[in-house]
Amino acid sequence: MATNPHSGRVALVTGASAGIGLAIARALAEAGAAVALIARPAPGPGRLAAAAAALTAAGHRARAFPCDVTDEAAVAALPAAVERDLGPIAILVNNAGAAESRPFVKADRAHFEGMLAVNLLSVFLVTRAVLPGMLARGAGRVISIASTAGKVGYAYVSAYCAAKHGVIGLTQALALEVAEKGITVNAVCPGYVDTPLTDAAVANIVAKTGKTDAEARALLAASNPQKRLIAPEEVAAAVLYLASDGARGVNGQSLNVCGGALPL
Ligand code: NAD
Repeated sequence: MATNPHSGRVALVTGASAGIGLAIARALAEAGAAVALIARPAPGPGRLAAAAAALTAAGHRARAFPCDVTDEAAVAALPAAVERDLGPIAILVNNAGAAESRPFVKADRAHFEGMLAVNLLSVFLVTRAVLPGMLARGAGRVISIASTAGKVGYAYVSAYCAAKHGVIGLTQALALEVAEKGITVNAVCPGYVDTPLTDAAVANIVAKTGKTDAEARALLAASNPQKRLIAPEEVAAAVLYLASDGARGVNGQSLNVCGGALPL
């Protein structure tokens, strides 16, 4: 395989200032792609700019584009800005997301709509903005980071589970719609990954149960048959595969990266 299999391609990665998205942006840059890093303008545009600057300093092509992926107008303007700076988008990675836990009876409409907006509506908005260019060029890869919570239910995260199930449904439907257009649409379903999002879940367990940080972390790791948290780089490796030329026949799939916790 070529050392830089994505050389000359432009990748747009949402939620790229931290965790899984940052690892994906780094992996794509190291594989030769020019990378547009997207994350919310607040709370920390500095974090996003620093992520892009670190990739640039390492000799890669990378630019930061602050954008809230639930803001329809801001998202609609994104492809033109990215294409002006870097070129046509060949690879879209819908990674931005958030997981708030709430017992179902305490989950009000704002919570439910908020989870749907950041985890599902965002995938629709960003994909709808980027897809016309891919269709015009007859080539593209759309990869969304769903979750094992997109395939099975977990207690206290019903809104998150509903949104992630939606991401998988959207992936399967769109994959069929563009199957003859040189575009593939797939999802990746990680189990618990060692990121700031999981740190927040650990803090929540500590606050609610009185367990220590280590006990809470071990509880999450125990959901993986390999008894460990997944590294962000392992999710990035799955994305790199789905973006590769060799994966052109892989379409509408949702690839588990969870140590075998789910059979399908
Ligand atoms: P994280 O909290 O560490 O990082 C989330 C990223 O998304 C940050 O860059 C943040 O700025 C960005 N973001 C959040 N809301 C945004 C918005 N409205 N607009 C633009 N950017 C926004 O999260 P993570 O653990 O790296 O998770 C990344 C993705 O992977 C999410 O979709 C998450 O649901 C999914 N996932 C995570 C885990 C896990 O255990 N961490 C497991 C399965 C799936």
